[in-house]
Amino acid sequence: MTLPKDLAPETYTAQGMHSPDPVTGSLVPAVQPSTTFGRDENYKLIAESHSYARDENPGFLIAERLLAQLEGGEESLLFSSGMSAAGAIVQSLKPGDHVVIPKVMYWGLRNWMVNFCSRWGIELDQYDLADPNDLASTVKAGKTALVWVETPCNPTWDVIDIETAAELAHGAGARLVVDSTVSTPVLTRPIEFGADVVMHSATKYLNGHGDVVAGALVTAEKDDFWGEIRKVRAEGGAILGSFEAWLLQRGMRTLFLRVGHACQSALAIAQYFENHPALSSVLYPGLESHPGHEIARKQMLGGFGGMLSLRVKGGEKSALGVVKKCRVFVRATSLGGVESLIEHRYSIEGAFSPIPKDLLRLSIGIESVDDLIADLEQALG
Ligand SMILES: *Cc1c(COP(=O)(O)O)cnc(C)c1O
Repeated sequence: MTLPKDLAPETYTAQGMHSPDPVTGSLVPAVQPSTTFGRDENYKLIAESHSYARDENPGFLIAERLLAQLEGGEESLLFSSGMSAAGAIVQSLKPGDHVVIPKVMYWGLRNWMVNFCSRWGIELDQYDLADPNDLASTVKAGKTALVWVETPCNPTWDVIDIETAAELAHGAGARLVVDSTVSTPVLTRPIEFGADVVMHSATKYLNGHGDVVAGALVTAEKDDFWGEIRKVRAEGGAILGSFEAWLLQRGMRTLFLRVGHACQSALAIAQYFENHPALSSVLYPGLESHPGHEIARKQMLGGFGGMLSLRVKGGEKSALGVVKKCRVFVRATSLGGVESLIEHRYSIEGAFSPIPKDLLRLSIGIESVDDLIADLEQALG
């Protein structure tokens, strides 16, 4: 059975692209733990494409097909983490290639890229998000192979114009990769704005329940570069376990509900605290005061995301004092889960971090927004 073609994304996501299993009639797919797949008497694979689970695992297919369809891409690949998904892209480059990344982005990935590129002879430059012309002057025509964008980016939630970045990248003969972990395909479909590859830490919103580490890539086109990425996964083996793949496809079914709720609550919280006397600023792309608001209105459709940051007057000590008093917000790193988290980013990133010491990062979950507001209010008071 196949689903009708013209369904809304909410519909095929809720159903996990799944029609009842033709053999058992089950609505819930089975966990597929097999590492090897049988052949018939003529030595032909019984199910075409599946031979050995490091190359291809039927247990990945629901999440991969669903994500490819949500992003409007040709194909998707799951990885064992967001880092290994991003790593597969960079490992598909050649020595001498030039890569351009933002100065502020997911710090673990930035650190890894700086290190890896210097050891593999890949040239890397960083562009400044605050200056809209800086990306243009960092890209080198005929030399740059990859332009990296994360939007909105951690933890200031600056917004990068994907369409402009795609024009710049393509004009120089480079590919554009967008880390869309924070936007999710519910809000932004980077391929529609010209991205070549979309990356997700599926650990965050896609799974959404804080119980799986996973990553994913989606490609606009199944070209040679994508073939290299596929090889990196198959040969390096950065694949998900069967149960984790099963949990991920289950978590994805509620993606639209979770992201929709988080966006509404995050906007309400940002607006409520925007002029709070204990704060010097609230960073959220949904606020008109945010420098990325206009671009966000163009490329984030249906909401501005569930992530925001607060800058607390009085510096690090006051910020840590607020964290200490929280009773509903959970003190932990990560984002995109059903429970709301509060985090002092500087403490996590350490001495070389560019993050202001007065900044608190909030990941808004699906609790009652009144409880979240009351909790922050008493903690700031
Ligand atoms: C968490 C995160 C990553 C890294 O993903 P893992 O699943 O932790 O490996 C990359 N980019 C962004 C924006 C993230 O939030």
